[in-house]
Amino acid sequence: MLFKGILLSNQPSFSANVQTIERALLDEHAAAGNLLVKLDYSTINYKDGLALTNKSPVVRKWPMVPGIDGAGVVEESTDPAFPVGSSVILNGFGVGETHWGCLAGYARLKSEWLVPMPKQMDTKTAMAIGTAGYTAMLCVLALERAGLRPDQGEVLVTGAAGGVGSVAVSLLATRGYQVIASTGRASTADYLKQLGATDLLDRSTLATPGKPLQKERWAAVVDTVGSTTLANALAQCKYGASIAACGLAGGMDLPTTVAPFILRNVRLLGVDSVMAPLSLRQEAWQCLSESLDRTHLATMTSEISLDDCIDAGAKIIAGEVRGRLLVDLNRQ
Ligand code: NDP
Repeated sequence: MLFKGILLSNQPSFSANVQTIERALLDEHAAAGNLLVKLDYSTINYKDGLALTNKSPVVRKWPMVPGIDGAGVVEESTDPAFPVGSSVILNGFGVGETHWGCLAGYARLKSEWLVPMPKQMDTKTAMAIGTAGYTAMLCVLALERAGLRPDQGEVLVTGAAGGVGSVAVSLLATRGYQVIASTGRASTADYLKQLGATDLLDRSTLATPGKPLQKERWAAVVDTVGSTTLANALAQCKYGASIAACGLAGGMDLPTTVAPFILRNVRLLGVDSVMAPLSLRQEAWQCLSESLDRTHLATMTSEISLDDCIDAGAKIIAGEVRGRLLVDLNRQ
Protein backbone atom coordinates (compact mmCIF):
# COMPACT_ATOMS: atom_id res chain seq x y z
CA MET A 1 0.00 0.00 0.00
CA LEU A 2 1.20 3.50 -0.87
CA PHE A 3 -0.09 6.80 0.51
CA LYS A 4 0.79 10.47 0.33
CA GLY A 5 2.40 12.24 3.27
CA ILE A 6 4.95 14.80 4.39
CA LEU A 7 8.34 13.46 5.35
CA LEU A 8 10.87 15.48 7.36
CA SER A 9 14.50 14.43 7.16
CA ASN A 10 17.71 15.73 8.74
CA GLN A 11 20.01 13.97 6.26
CA PRO A 12 22.21 15.53 4.99
CA SER A 13 20.43 18.66 6.26
CA PHE A 14 16.82 19.50 7.13
CA SER A 15 14.25 18.94 4.39
CA ALA A 16 10.45 18.75 4.23
CA ASN A 17 8.80 17.06 1.24
CA VAL A 18 5.37 15.87 0.21
CA GLN A 19 5.95 12.37 -1.14
CA THR A 20 4.62 8.86 -1.57
CA ILE A 21 5.19 6.69 1.49
CA GLU A 22 5.15 2.89 1.60
CA ARG A 23 3.12 1.08 4.25
CA ALA A 24 6.25 -0.91 5.21
CA LEU A 25 8.03 2.32 6.16
CA LEU A 26 5.11 3.35 8.37
CA ASP A 27 5.13 -0.08 10.03
CA GLU A 28 8.86 0.26 10.69
CA HIS A 29 8.82 3.81 12.08
CA ALA A 30 5.50 3.75 13.94
CA ALA A 31 5.57 0.16 15.19
CA ALA A 32 4.36 1.22 18.67
CA GLY A 33 0.94 2.07 17.21
CA ASN A 34 -1.51 -0.83 17.57
CA LEU A 35 -4.15 0.70 15.25
CA LEU A 36 -3.94 1.64 11.60
CA VAL A 37 -6.00 4.78 11.03
CA LYS A 38 -6.99 6.08 7.61
CA LEU A 39 -6.85 9.82 8.17
CA ASP A 40 -9.43 12.14 6.62
CA TYR A 41 -8.23 15.44 8.04
CA SER A 42 -5.34 16.99 9.93
CA THR A 43 -4.51 20.59 10.87
CA ILE A 44 -1.65 23.05 11.04
CA ASN A 45 -1.01 24.29 14.58
CA TYR A 46 1.83 26.51 15.77
CA LYS A 47 3.81 23.42 16.79
CA ASP A 48 3.34 21.90 13.32
CA GLY A 49 4.75 25.16 11.95
CA LEU A 50 7.81 24.73 14.17
CA ALA A 51 8.28 21.15 12.94
CA LEU A 52 7.73 21.99 9.26
CA THR A 53 10.21 24.88 9.36
CA ASN A 54 12.61 23.22 11.84
CA LYS A 55 12.51 26.56 13.72
CA SER A 56 12.79 24.83 17.08
CA PRO A 57 13.61 21.25 18.05
CA VAL A 58 10.05 19.85 18.02
CA VAL A 59 11.07 16.76 16.03
CA ARG A 60 13.17 14.42 18.12
CA LYS A 61 13.33 11.34 15.85
CA TRP A 62 14.22 11.22 12.16
CA PRO A 63 12.87 10.74 9.58
CA MET A 64 9.51 12.03 10.83
CA VAL A 65 6.01 12.47 9.49
CA PRO A 66 4.81 15.69 11.19
CA GLY A 67 1.24 16.40 12.28
CA ILE A 68 0.22 16.53 15.95
CA ASP A 69 -3.51 16.24 15.08
CA GLY A 70 -5.49 13.72 13.09
CA ALA A 71 -9.03 12.45 12.66
CA GLY A 72 -10.04 9.42 10.67
CA VAL A 73 -11.37 5.89 10.69
CA VAL A 74 -9.74 2.77 12.18
CA GLU A 75 -8.80 0.24 9.44
CA GLU A 76 -6.85 -2.31 11.51
CA SER A 77 -7.18 -2.82 15.26
CA THR A 78 -5.97 -5.00 18.11
CA ASP A 79 -8.15 -3.17 20.64
CA PRO A 80 -11.84 -4.11 20.99
CA ALA A 81 -12.52 -0.61 22.37
CA PHE A 82 -11.70 0.75 18.89
CA PRO A 83 -13.06 -1.74 16.33
CA VAL A 84 -12.49 -1.37 12.59
CA GLY A 85 -14.73 1.44 11.36
CA SER A 86 -14.52 3.58 14.55
CA SER A 87 -14.07 7.27 14.03
CA VAL A 88 -11.29 8.72 16.20
CA ILE A 89 -9.47 11.92 17.19
CA LEU A 90 -5.75 12.17 17.99
CA ASN A 91 -4.13 15.20 19.63
CA GLY A 92 -0.56 15.33 20.86
CA PHE A 93 1.02 12.58 22.97
CA GLY A 94 4.26 13.25 21.09
CA VAL A 95 2.74 12.27 17.73
CA GLY A 96 4.50 14.26 14.99
CA GLU A 97 7.43 14.77 17.41
CA THR A 98 8.69 11.33 18.49
CA HIS A 99 6.10 9.10 16.76
CA TRP A 100 5.08 9.37 13.07
CA GLY A 101 2.24 11.87 12.78
CA CYS A 102 -0.89 12.77 10.90
CA LEU A 103 0.10 14.92 7.91
CA ALA A 104 -0.29 11.78 5.79
CA GLY A 105 -2.98 9.47 4.46
CA TYR A 106 -2.39 6.88 7.19
CA ALA A 107 -1.00 6.76 10.73
CA ARG A 108 -0.28 3.94 13.17
CA LEU A 109 -1.45 5.13 16.57
CA LYS A 110 -1.76 3.73 20.08
CA SER A 111 -5.37 3.20 21.12
CA GLU A 112 -4.62 4.72 24.54
CA TRP A 113 -4.00 8.06 22.81
CA LEU A 114 -7.35 8.22 21.01
CA VAL A 115 -10.58 10.00 21.81
CA PRO A 116 -13.70 8.37 20.29
CA MET A 117 -15.50 10.82 18.01
CA PRO A 118 -18.29 12.54 19.98
CA LYS A 119 -21.76 11.79 18.59
CA GLN A 120 -22.49 15.28 17.24
CA MET A 121 -19.11 15.60 15.51
CA ASP A 122 -17.37 14.35 12.36
CA THR A 123 -13.70 14.12 11.35
CA LYS A 124 -13.81 17.43 9.47
CA THR A 125 -15.28 19.42 12.37
CA ALA A 126 -12.87 17.77 14.82
CA MET A 127 -9.86 18.88 12.81
CA ALA A 128 -11.22 22.37 12.16
CA ILE A 129 -11.09 22.58 15.97
CA GLY A 130 -7.81 20.63 16.34
CA THR A 131 -5.30 20.96 19.15
CA ALA A 132 -5.73 24.74 19.09
CA GLY A 133 -9.46 24.53 19.79
CA TYR A 134 -9.15 21.70 22.28
CA THR A 135 -6.50 23.73 24.15
CA ALA A 136 -8.81 26.77 24.16
CA MET A 137 -11.48 24.53 25.71
CA LEU A 138 -9.00 23.29 28.35
CA CYS A 139 -8.24 26.94 29.19
CA VAL A 140 -11.93 27.82 29.61
CA LEU A 141 -12.55 24.72 31.75
CA ALA A 142 -9.52 25.59 33.92
CA LEU A 143 -10.77 29.15 34.47
CA GLU A 144 -14.30 28.01 35.31
CA ARG A 145 -12.94 25.37 37.73
CA ALA A 146 -11.07 28.23 39.40
CA GLY A 147 -14.44 29.95 39.93
CA LEU A 148 -14.83 32.25 36.91
CA ARG A 149 -18.41 33.38 36.21
CA PRO A 150 -19.67 35.82 33.53
CA ASP A 151 -20.72 38.49 36.06
CA GLN A 152 -17.13 38.92 37.30
CA GLY A 153 -16.09 41.23 34.44
CA GLU A 154 -13.94 41.37 31.34
CA VAL A 155 -11.93 38.37 30.13
CA LEU A 156 -8.79 39.06 28.08
CA VAL A 157 -7.71 36.74 25.25
CA THR A 158 -4.19 37.34 23.89
CA GLY A 159 -3.06 36.28 20.40
CA ALA A 160 -6.78 36.49 19.71
CA ALA A 161 -6.71 36.16 15.91
CA GLY A 162 -4.62 32.95 16.09
CA GLY A 163 -6.03 29.42 16.37
CA VAL A 164 -6.22 29.04 20.16
CA GLY A 165 -7.24 32.70 20.52
CA SER A 166 -10.08 32.55 17.98
CA VAL A 167 -11.67 29.46 19.55
CA ALA A 168 -11.22 30.93 23.06
CA VAL A 169 -12.97 34.17 22.02
CA SER A 170 -15.89 32.21 20.55
CA LEU A 171 -16.24 29.79 23.49
CA LEU A 172 -16.11 32.56 26.10
CA ALA A 173 -18.53 34.82 24.23
CA THR A 174 -21.01 31.96 23.78
CA ARG A 175 -20.83 31.27 27.52
CA GLY A 176 -21.81 34.87 28.24
CA TYR A 177 -18.44 36.44 29.03
CA GLN A 178 -17.40 39.94 28.00
CA VAL A 179 -14.35 39.18 25.87
CA ILE A 180 -11.58 41.67 25.11
CA ALA A 181 -9.46 40.41 22.21
CA SER A 182 -5.81 41.45 22.13
CA THR A 183 -4.38 41.39 18.60
CA GLY A 184 -1.55 42.90 16.59
CA ARG A 185 -3.66 42.84 13.44
CA ALA A 186 -6.17 45.71 13.30
CA SER A 187 -7.51 44.14 10.09
CA THR A 188 -9.01 41.29 12.17
CA ALA A 189 -11.32 43.62 14.14
CA ASP A 190 -14.52 42.66 12.26
CA TYR A 191 -13.56 38.98 12.37
CA LEU A 192 -12.98 39.02 16.14
CA LYS A 193 -16.25 40.88 16.73
CA GLN A 194 -18.04 38.28 14.59
CA LEU A 195 -16.65 35.62 16.94
CA GLY A 196 -18.13 37.52 19.88
CA ALA A 197 -15.39 39.88 21.12
CA THR A 198 -16.87 42.92 22.86
CA ASP A 199 -13.82 45.06 22.20
CA LEU A 200 -10.24 44.93 20.95
CA LEU A 201 -6.91 45.80 22.55
CA ASP A 202 -3.80 46.54 20.47
CA ARG A 203 -1.25 43.93 21.51
CA SER A 204 1.51 46.58 21.60
CA THR A 205 -0.07 47.92 24.81
CA LEU A 206 0.88 44.63 26.51
CA ALA A 207 4.25 44.19 24.81
CA THR A 208 6.42 46.68 26.71
CA PRO A 209 7.51 46.07 30.31
CA GLY A 210 5.18 47.68 32.88
CA LYS A 211 4.86 48.05 36.65
CA PRO A 212 4.47 44.87 38.76
CA LEU A 213 0.96 46.01 39.76
CA GLN A 214 -1.16 48.02 37.33
CA LYS A 215 -4.79 49.19 37.21
CA GLU A 216 -7.02 46.18 37.91
CA ARG A 217 -9.02 45.19 34.83
CA TRP A 218 -9.28 41.44 34.04
CA ALA A 219 -11.53 38.92 35.74
CA ALA A 220 -9.59 36.25 33.83
CA VAL A 221 -7.16 35.84 30.95
CA VAL A 222 -6.50 33.19 28.28
CA ASP A 223 -2.88 33.81 27.33
CA THR A 224 -1.29 32.31 24.21
CA VAL A 225 1.61 34.77 24.02
CA GLY A 226 3.72 34.48 27.23
CA SER A 227 6.68 36.78 28.00
CA THR A 228 6.01 40.50 28.70
CA THR A 229 2.39 40.15 27.53
CA LEU A 230 1.69 37.59 30.25
CA ALA A 231 3.60 39.67 32.82
CA ASN A 232 1.43 42.72 32.04
CA ALA A 233 -1.75 40.62 32.04
CA LEU A 234 -0.81 39.35 35.53
CA ALA A 235 -0.19 42.92 36.69
CA GLN A 236 -3.64 43.99 35.38
CA CYS A 237 -5.64 41.15 36.96
CA LYS A 238 -8.40 42.00 39.42
CA TYR A 239 -8.14 40.67 42.96
CA GLY A 240 -8.66 36.87 42.88
CA ALA A 241 -8.52 36.58 39.06
CA SER A 242 -7.03 33.60 37.19
CA ILE A 243 -4.95 33.31 34.05
CA ALA A 244 -4.87 30.18 31.89
CA ALA A 245 -1.38 30.23 30.33
CA CYS A 246 -0.96 27.93 27.34
CA GLY A 247 1.31 29.60 24.80
CA LEU A 248 4.60 31.25 23.94
CA ALA A 249 3.91 32.99 20.61
CA GLY A 250 5.65 36.09 22.02
CA GLY A 251 8.41 34.29 23.94
CA MET A 252 9.20 31.58 26.46
CA ASP A 253 10.29 33.93 29.27
CA LEU A 254 8.10 35.40 31.99
CA PRO A 255 9.54 38.66 33.36
CA THR A 256 7.22 39.13 36.33
CA THR A 257 7.27 39.55 40.11
CA VAL A 258 5.35 37.75 42.85
CA ALA A 259 3.30 40.92 43.53
CA PRO A 260 0.12 39.83 41.63
CA PHE A 261 0.16 36.47 43.45
CA ILE A 262 0.79 37.64 47.01
CA LEU A 263 -1.00 41.01 46.95
CA ARG A 264 -3.96 40.30 44.64
CA ASN A 265 -4.40 36.56 45.08
CA VAL A 266 -4.00 36.08 41.32
CA ARG A 267 -3.71 32.48 40.16
CA LEU A 268 -1.63 31.34 37.21
CA LEU A 269 -3.01 28.12 35.75
CA GLY A 270 -0.76 26.14 33.41
CA VAL A 271 -2.53 24.41 30.54
CA ASP A 272 -0.95 21.53 28.62
CA SER A 273 -2.80 19.68 25.88
CA VAL A 274 -0.10 17.18 24.87
CA MET A 275 -0.10 14.89 27.90
CA ALA A 276 -3.53 15.82 29.32
CA PRO A 277 -5.26 12.73 30.74
CA LEU A 278 -7.87 10.98 28.61
CA SER A 279 -10.76 11.83 30.95
CA LEU A 280 -10.03 15.56 30.61
CA ARG A 281 -9.65 15.24 26.83
CA GLN A 282 -13.00 13.49 26.56
CA GLU A 283 -14.65 16.15 28.68
CA ALA A 284 -13.12 18.91 26.54
CA TRP A 285 -14.18 17.26 23.26
CA GLN A 286 -17.68 16.64 24.58
CA CYS A 287 -17.99 20.31 25.60
CA LEU A 288 -16.67 21.39 22.18
CA SER A 289 -19.15 19.18 20.39
CA GLU A 290 -22.04 20.55 22.45
CA SER A 291 -21.16 24.20 22.74
CA LEU A 292 -18.72 25.49 20.10
CA ASP A 293 -20.70 27.70 17.71
CA ARG A 294 -20.38 25.99 14.30
CA THR A 295 -20.98 29.25 12.41
CA HIS A 296 -18.04 30.77 14.30
CA LEU A 297 -15.97 27.67 13.51
CA ALA A 298 -16.73 28.00 9.79
CA THR A 299 -15.77 31.69 9.92
CA MET A 300 -12.39 30.92 11.48
CA THR A 301 -11.47 27.90 9.30
CA SER A 302 -9.55 27.85 6.01
CA GLU A 303 -9.17 24.55 4.19
CA ILE A 304 -5.88 23.56 2.55
CA SER A 305 -4.37 20.45 0.94
CA LEU A 306 -1.31 18.45 1.96
CA ASP A 307 0.65 20.24 -0.77
CA ASP A 308 -0.08 23.61 0.89
CA CYS A 309 1.16 22.56 4.35
CA ILE A 310 4.85 23.41 4.05
CA ASP A 311 4.07 27.03 3.09
CA ALA A 312 1.36 27.17 5.74
CA GLY A 313 3.89 26.09 8.39
CA ALA A 314 6.08 29.10 7.59
CA LYS A 315 3.05 31.42 7.62
CA ILE A 316 1.82 30.32 11.06
CA ILE A 317 5.27 30.93 12.57
CA ALA A 318 5.31 34.39 10.94
CA GLY A 319 1.96 35.13 12.70
CA GLU A 320 0.19 35.43 9.35
CA VAL A 321 -2.52 32.80 9.81
CA ARG A 322 -5.97 33.93 10.92
CA GLY A 323 -7.95 31.36 12.87
CA ARG A 324 -7.62 27.70 11.96
CA LEU A 325 -6.06 25.76 9.09
CA LEU A 326 -7.84 22.51 8.23
CA VAL A 327 -5.93 20.02 6.07
CA ASP A 328 -8.06 17.85 3.78
CA LEU A 329 -5.82 14.82 3.28
CA ASN A 330 -7.86 13.57 0.33
CA ARG A 331 -7.79 16.85 -1.59
CA GLN A 332 -5.46 16.81 -4.62
P1 NDP B 1 -1.25 30.88 16.01
O1 NDP B 1 -0.03 31.24 15.27
O2 NDP B 1 -2.47 30.51 15.27
O3 NDP B 1 -1.64 32.09 16.99
C1 NDP B 1 -0.68 32.82 17.71
C2 NDP B 1 -1.09 34.27 17.73
O4 NDP B 1 -0.25 34.94 18.66
C3 NDP B 1 -0.89 34.99 16.42
O5 NDP B 1 -1.96 34.81 15.54
C4 NDP B 1 -0.78 36.43 16.89
O6 NDP B 1 -2.08 36.89 17.18
C5 NDP B 1 -0.06 36.28 18.23
N1 NDP B 1 1.38 36.52 18.11
C6 NDP B 1 2.25 35.97 17.24
N2 NDP B 1 3.48 36.43 17.45
C7 NDP B 1 3.41 37.30 18.48
C8 NDP B 1 4.36 38.11 19.17
N3 NDP B 1 5.65 38.12 18.82
N4 NDP B 1 3.91 38.88 20.19
C9 NDP B 1 2.61 38.87 20.54
N5 NDP B 1 1.67 38.13 19.92
C10 NDP B 1 2.07 37.35 18.91
O7 NDP B 1 -0.85 29.71 17.02
P2 NDP B 1 -1.81 28.77 17.90
O8 NDP B 1 -3.05 29.52 18.23
O9 NDP B 1 -1.88 27.43 17.27
O10 NDP B 1 -0.93 28.64 19.21
C11 NDP B 1 -0.76 29.76 20.07
C12 NDP B 1 0.28 29.44 21.12
O11 NDP B 1 -0.23 28.44 21.99
C13 NDP B 1 1.61 28.92 20.57
O12 NDP B 1 2.66 29.43 21.33
C14 NDP B 1 1.49 27.42 20.76
O13 NDP B 1 2.73 26.82 20.88
C15 NDP B 1 0.69 27.36 22.05
N6 NDP B 1 -0.06 26.12 22.20
C16 NDP B 1 0.10 25.45 23.37
C17 NDP B 1 -0.59 24.31 23.62
C18 NDP B 1 -0.46 23.63 24.92
O14 NDP B 1 -0.71 22.43 25.01
N7 NDP B 1 -0.06 24.34 25.97
C19 NDP B 1 -1.48 23.72 22.59
C20 NDP B 1 -1.67 24.57 21.42
C21 NDP B 1 -0.94 25.73 21.25
P3 NDP B 1 -2.59 38.35 16.73
O15 NDP B 1 -2.30 38.44 15.26
O16 NDP B 1 -4.03 38.34 17.06
O17 NDP B 1 -1.80 39.35 17.52
